[in-house]
Amino acid sequence: MPPRPAGRVPGIAGSVTVFGVPVRFHFTFWLIVIWMIVLASGGRQTVVGAALFIFGLFSSVLLHEAGHALMARRYGIGTQEIVMLPIGGLARLERQPKAGEEFWVAFAGPLVNFFLGLALLGAAYWTGGGVAVGHWLEAADTNIVSRLAVANLVLALFNLLPAFPMDGGRVLRSLLAERRSFEHATRITARIGTGIAALMALLGLLQANFLLLFVALFIYIGAMQESMAATAQALMQGAKVRDAMVTDFRTLSHGDTIRDAAELLLATSQQDFPVLAGPRVTGLLSRSHLLRALASEGPGGYVASAMDRDFRRLDPEADLAEAAGVLSGGVNCALVFEDERLTGMLTAENLSEYLVLKKLREARAAGKEELSKRDV
Ligand SMILES: [Zn+2]
Repeated sequence: MPPRPAGRVPGIAGSVTVFGVPVRFHFTFWLIVIWMIVLASGGRQTVVGAALFIFGLFSSVLLHEAGHALMARRYGIGTQEIVMLPIGGLARLERQPKAGEEFWVAFAGPLVNFFLGLALLGAAYWTGGGVAVGHWLEAADTNIVSRLAVANLVLALFNLLPAFPMDGGRVLRSLLAERRSFEHATRITARIGTGIAALMALLGLLQANFLLLFVALFIYIGAMQESMAATAQALMQGAKVRDAMVTDFRTLSHGDTIRDAAELLLATSQQDFPVLAGPRVTGLLSRSHLLRALASEGPGGYVASAMDRDFRRLDPEADLAEAAGVLSGGVNCALVFEDERLTGMLTAENLSEYLVLKKLREARAAGKEELSKRDV
C-alpha cells in the first residue's frame, strides 16, 4: 500500500511501536488473522504452523510499511502512524513527498520485500528445505520459510504494478516527472493504471475471478483519485489563500445560545461560524458541533461551551496548495487572520468552487468554446 498524508482511521484495536513509528491495528485486521488461521490449518499444516505463517506474512507487510516510513524519515518527513488493515498496511506520512523524494519513498517498500524474499529463500535452501515450485505449493508445517519467501517476492512484484494506488504507480510517476510536469506525469500514470484495470476486469470477468475484479476496481479508483488530486494541485499553483477565501460570512457572539446558532444555520448556507468575544475570535462552531450540542444540551445551551477552541489559522498570503492540506482528516474549515484580525474563511466547499471556476476560466482562455459538462 502506498504512503498517504494526514487524517485518522477509526476502529483501532491495539498498537505497538516499530522504529519509533506507532503501528495501529484495525479491529478488522484481527478478524482476518483469525479467519486466515482457521482456513489455513488442516491437512499437512497445524494451527500453530498456520499461525506462524500468517504472523510471518503480516510481519513482512509491516516491514514493507516501515521501509516507506524510514525512507521518508531520510527526507525529513515524519510518519504519523502505520495502520494495519486486512488489505495491507498504510503508512500515513506527515506530508506528501516531493517528486524527487517520491521515487525512493515508494520504492523502499517493495525493495524490503524483495530482499526479505531473497534472504528467506537463502535460509530455506541452506536449512535443506526445498525451494522448487512443487515444494511450496501445498501448505505444510515444513515449508513455512519457503512459502514466506515466495509471498515476499509476490508482494514486491504486486506492489510494483505501475498503477495507482500501488507503489509502482508512484515510482513510475516520479520517473516521468523528471522530464515533464508533475500533473502531466500523474495523468500518464493514471491512464496506464486505467488500462491495467480494464485488462484485469476483462480477465476477471472471463474467469469469473472476483478477487481480480476487486483489484481492478481498486486500481481504477486509485487512478481517478490521483488524477483529480493532481488537477487540483496544478490549479492551485501560484494561488494564495486570499484568492480563494470567503470574505462575506456571518459570525456568532460568545454569549449566543445554540438556538441563535441553529437559526443562523437555517437562514444562511454557511456550515461553520466563527465565534467572537468583542473583536477577538474565541472559537469555531461547525455544523456537527452545533448538532451535537443541540442533542446533548438542547437549544438553551451556550455556543461558547460547544465550539472548537483549537481551530486552524491561516495567513491570507499563504500558498493555497499548502493551506489546502489543512482541510483534510475531518477539518472542513480554517479561519484566515490578517494582523490578528479575522478577514476570511477557507472551507472545503468554497475551495472546490474556486477550483471549478478556475478550471472553467483556464479552459475558456485555452479557446475551448465548446466545454463539455464532463470537463467541469
Ligand atoms: Zn507500499
